[in-house]
Amino acid sequence: MSNCQGLGDCDDARMQRIYEYLDGALTKKDITEIKDHLADCPECSEEYDLECLIRSMVKRSCTEAAPENLKNSILDRIHSIKPVEA
Ligand SMILES: [Zn+2]
Repeated sequence: MSNCQGLGDCDDARMQRIYEYLDGALTKKDITEIKDHLADCPECSEEYDLECLIRSMVKRSCTEAAPENLKNSILDRIHSIKPVEA
């Protein structure tokens, strides 16, 4: 599955390390290795950017879910109040 033109050692294990890097699960030595590789390898760098983008989108959609729930609960209260006022 490796079509990397950089260091030539990109494979699934390498990508796994990038995910671990994003999770903050790597040692300083591993982080240096990954950073060096990302700088030299457009393919992995692109994959890394994409993963970052996906993660930030997931984070954003999670924080937007809360106001939606709040809105629904407010609407429920309005609907439950209305008959009393009528
Ligand atoms: Zn690579």
